[in-house]
Amino acid sequence: MTTTPIGAAARPETATAMLDVRGLKKVYEGRGRTVEAVRDLTFTVGSGELVCIVGPSGAGKTTLLRCIAGLLDCTSGEVVLEGEKVTGPPPGMAVVFQEYGRSLFPWMTVRQNVELPLKEKKVPKAERRRLVQEALEAVGLSEAQDAHPFQLSGGMQQRVAIARAVAYEPHLLLMDEPFAAVDAQTRADLEDLVRSLWKRLGVTVLFVTHDIDEAVYLGRRVIVLSSSPTVVLEEVTVDLPDERDQLTTRSLPRFAELRGHVYELVQQAKSGHRPAS
Ligand code: ADP
Repeated sequence: MTTTPIGAAARPETATAMLDVRGLKKVYEGRGRTVEAVRDLTFTVGSGELVCIVGPSGAGKTTLLRCIAGLLDCTSGEVVLEGEKVTGPPPGMAVVFQEYGRSLFPWMTVRQNVELPLKEKKVPKAERRRLVQEALEAVGLSEAQDAHPFQLSGGMQQRVAIARAVAYEPHLLLMDEPFAAVDAQTRADLEDLVRSLWKRLGVTVLFVTHDIDEAVYLGRRVIVLSSSPTVVLEEVTVDLPDERDQLTTRSLPRFAELRGHVYELVQQAKSGHRPAS
């Protein structure tokens, strides 16, 4: 059997950069302590790509995401979204967090939760209604629109959070370990939901996870981070067929090779390995 080498990612030639992270560095300072969380991160995400970021716990994934979302100032370097430097939460971006329980307002119905950011965006009422309806249909929750979050399972609540992000029609969807708190079956269903929404809507997705299988299953590229202070250890191209399903894709020999490769990288990262500079 011949094996295709697994290597540094060649970005799709056609994709124009949606997101450009250049020399990003973040040092936390306070109470007499200095923590260099992110040392030097440079990568791009092409328009319409689905890219996953993996790295060991404490690698600076959340820090990176907060800098990209404009919620945290970087110490040096810059984040450029669609040609504009990010200096605060950019209008074309939506974020889905891990903590679905805390990200939904408990006193609002599902529909009201999904509609809220559209009201803030001053979308006219009829248009809001259409966007909310479509987003809830897309995540299979049309029937639950008058329910309150506490009446839904964890997986359904996370679907509401995804619907809220999708209804906003973001150009870039950031997902921060969004399925870490749901059971394995729900997680598989939600992974497939993300892939189908990505394909259908053509949105650019940056998905952060510490789950190696999830990263390989979802992404076209996996960016592996070193341990903190963080740099990019490797960008891995996921050359699996675009049509993916949990059974077939995960049993492909290539899936096992890619998974093994990323696993090795993450193990190296945990033991403090850094790329030669
Ligand atoms: P990850 O999301 O990959 O687990 P984080 O971005 O949460 O990593 O953290 C990266 C590093 O930065 C860790 O060493 C963490 O302790 C440190 N860190 C994160 N937030 C702060 C903060 N507000 N102040 C000081 N250090 C922080």
